[in-house]
Amino acid sequence: MSVSLPDFDTNMREALGERGWITSRDDIARQSRDWLDRFGAQPLGVARPESTAQVAEAVRICVAHGVVISPQGGNTGLAGGAVLASGDRGIIMWLGRMNRIVSIDPIDFTARVEAGVVLQTLHDALAEQDLIFPLHLGSEGSAQIGGLVGTNAGGSHAMRFGMMQDLVLGLEVVLPDGTVWDGARALIKDNAGYQLRRLFCGAEGTLGIVTGAVLRLFPAPIARATALLAVSDLNAAQSVGALLRSRTGEFLTAMEFFGEIGLGLAMKHVDGLSFPLAAPAPTYILVELTTSVPGIDLDDMLQNALAEGFESGFVLDGAIAANEAQRAAFWRLREEMPEGQRLEGPQIKHDVAVPVAKLAAFVTSASAAADAVMPGVRINPFGHLGDGNVHFNLTPPEGCGDFMGKQADLSRAIYDAAVANDGTISAEHGLGQAKVTLADQYRSDIERALMRRIKAALDPQAIMNPGKII
Ligand SMILES: Cc1cc2nc3c(=O)[nH]c(=O)nc-3n(C[C@H](O)[C@H](O)[C@H](O)COP(=O)(O)OP(=O)(O)OC[C@H]3O[C@@H](n4cnc5c(N)ncnc54)[C@H](O)[C@@H]3O)c2cc1C
Repeated sequence: MSVSLPDFDTNMREALGERGWITSRDDIARQSRDWLDRFGAQPLGVARPESTAQVAEAVRICVAHGVVISPQGGNTGLAGGAVLASGDRGIIMWLGRMNRIVSIDPIDFTARVEAGVVLQTLHDALAEQDLIFPLHLGSEGSAQIGGLVGTNAGGSHAMRFGMMQDLVLGLEVVLPDGTVWDGARALIKDNAGYQLRRLFCGAEGTLGIVTGAVLRLFPAPIARATALLAVSDLNAAQSVGALLRSRTGEFLTAMEFFGEIGLGLAMKHVDGLSFPLAAPAPTYILVELTTSVPGIDLDDMLQNALAEGFESGFVLDGAIAANEAQRAAFWRLREEMPEGQRLEGPQIKHDVAVPVAKLAAFVTSASAAADAVMPGVRINPFGHLGDGNVHFNLTPPEGCGDFMGKQADLSRAIYDAAVANDGTISAEHGLGQAKVTLADQYRSDIERALMRRIKAALDPQAIMNPGKII
């Protein structure tokens, strides 16, 4: 049944109250557009519910009026998933008022939270109890639990602790018909049927609205060892990665890589960076070990592993952080990669992944393919050596102001190379609106049909975030 928009507006206001239903264009401008300001049609309004019951009621009103919904958390997603696609008559459902940490259980090692809790807030609360939720990303000051579930976020510790889907034990979800699925169980083992919670991890809000979660926690580390290493190329990096894995086992927490072009751009544009090695090298590895167990000498463990790396000739140079300030300085070199490149000017970003053993082969073939499309294009691959996730970012050749006219050809070459190396066109940022058409081109017929059937089964009226994923 379709009802007039004034009725819709009245119903939403009655259900959510004055603070819960915002329609002034000025007040909703920022939330109407995505983080990178590339996507976002004008919504009818932004719903700001404060309870699961209000979310469910608002969904039922939208269903009755044929109004579509884009769930939104911190709006830091990089694929345009949290805003409306053009042509949609819809609203944004922002979960930010549902921001209670309901409980932290130091026996179960779980936290029960509402979907609007900001990741940094959770980190701070857990630190007081010597616990951690081991998900770390550059946007953690804004990204919310619901959005992290929606994108199945990864980050720099995924190699040890997994992605969001591995850290979520239970979920509460408002389904596209307004009913509530209470699956917020704190169980590591629960095989009583399909693993429904996993279906919502990475669904980008297309199957329902996450309102609460039970998350896995771990003891806070009491010691760290961090090193910056220089190696000759990514083949050597792969070998060093395998060596570190076998010699440091469960203590290996992060293993990142970046190259000389990326480091050069960061050093050129970002203040306060310092480079600790004697000479530049083609490729760098940042490695970190952590432990929560007293009496383990991580520096010694790392030194022994690196001695083997030097002996085999794979490691050219290296420095182990002597204190917290040095550790932070090493991490800044990796973390400022995106900023250095952004300040250089126009750029084209790709978030892809391949199996770790194919990282070097992928970067070599993707680089050759990109150079064939645009000779001299500056290639800045960096990312996660531990899990094969590469941010394969491009900057125009020196002296060439722009290259956006070549974007489609360049991106195609890189995605083809990722898929040819058994990889994926989206590692951790999702598809949103940015890659929805592209993803369809790379999917097999069976995968495409499976995804459509799941969507149609849960959301037959296509109310929930249409135009994303499929
Ligand atoms: C500086 C920066 C660094 C980043 N680094 C990383 C990184 O290292 N790793 C990584 O994985 N990502 C990274 N990202 C991307 C982004 O932060 C993540 O995708 C994050 O998970 C988004 O959380 P959010 O709350 O901002 O979600 P939003 O952007 O609001 O939404 C993202 C998606 O989830 C859906 N969604 C939001 N809330 C809900 C809900 N309650 N229920 C169901 N669906 C919902 C939305 O509809 C949308 O499709 C980075 C982004 C920035 C800006």
